[in-house]
Amino acid sequence: MIPAAFDYEVADSAAHALSLLAEHGEDAKLLAGGHSLLPLMKLRLAAPALLVDIGRLAELSYVRDEGEHLAIGALTRHRDLETSAVLAEHCPVLSHVAGQVGDPQVRHRGTIGGSIAHGDPASDLPAAVLALGGTMVLVGPDGERTVPAGEFHHGFLETALALDELLVEIRVPKMAGSRYSFQKFNRRAQDWAIVGVVAVRNGTTGVALVNMGSVPLRAAGVEEALAGGADVATAAARADEGTEPPTDLNGSAEYRRHLAKVLVRRALEEVGA
Ligand code: FAD
Repeated sequence: MIPAAFDYEVADSAAHALSLLAEHGEDAKLLAGGHSLLPLMKLRLAAPALLVDIGRLAELSYVRDEGEHLAIGALTRHRDLETSAVLAEHCPVLSHVAGQVGDPQVRHRGTIGGSIAHGDPASDLPAAVLALGGTMVLVGPDGERTVPAGEFHHGFLETALALDELLVEIRVPKMAGSRYSFQKFNRRAQDWAIVGVVAVRNGTTGVALVNMGSVPLRAAGVEEALAGGADVATAAARADEGTEPPTDLNGSAEYRRHLAKVLVRRALEEVGA
């Protein structure tokens, strides 16, 4: 439970963090809230030679109304999403999902950027951003690029981020008046989702799944069925299409497939699909 020795630098700006990444390459790791990285380091599943602490970069902590979309700084903590007046008005699903992450300590330290960059398919916020059809903004030595949420996660703990890039912002469409549902199934309050479902209805219905594969997944079969006029039960029966749920101590893959169908049905009923 004791991490390997490492050096530690506090970045005083996003540019400073990028220069440290460029200088140290694969030896360096960004530290945001530390609530995913530090457990990995304590288990010695990660042993970076240098931690670049971006946790104090206030310039990357914000929720802004940008007209067509909302812009969320990558260092915005879960608690700040939960209590954001801008999100409450224009994208309440994100506040609600942030409020279901872990416990108060986790929500006061963890950041949306860390949650998305970490690439754990059991995380709640990446699925919410996927259901919303969000976009990630990455900055590296060659400037800025945007990646749609559906292309950002490549595999378990693997993302589109290059070693010398920083996730700086998450953009989501404004969804005032939308209906949403977050079905998080766990055995104990505050646990990670065994399976989770985020549904957002704003004209069409977007549905994304937590912990049903190596990346956050859209429930493509469900969305297709709804678009074709299927009823809720028929659409929900397709919830496990294209998924590869894990088997672990919390449940078998078969159990997760069943759960996904039940939870999607509940979510669709809640949003009035
Ligand atoms: P860190 O741990 O600091 O970083 C995680 C990874 O992302 C690292 O590889 C880091 O280098 C990289 N990174 C961080 N920020 C950036 C950036 N801006 N650009 C590029 N790379 C970056 N999550 C849930 O979704 N649901 C839960 O129910 C839940 N329960 C939890 C319970 C406990 C007890 C704990 C400890 C964590 C839990 N989490 C849960 C995870 C929590 O939400 C984490 O805070 C989050 O996954 C990671 O955010 P972080 O800011 O702590 O990232």
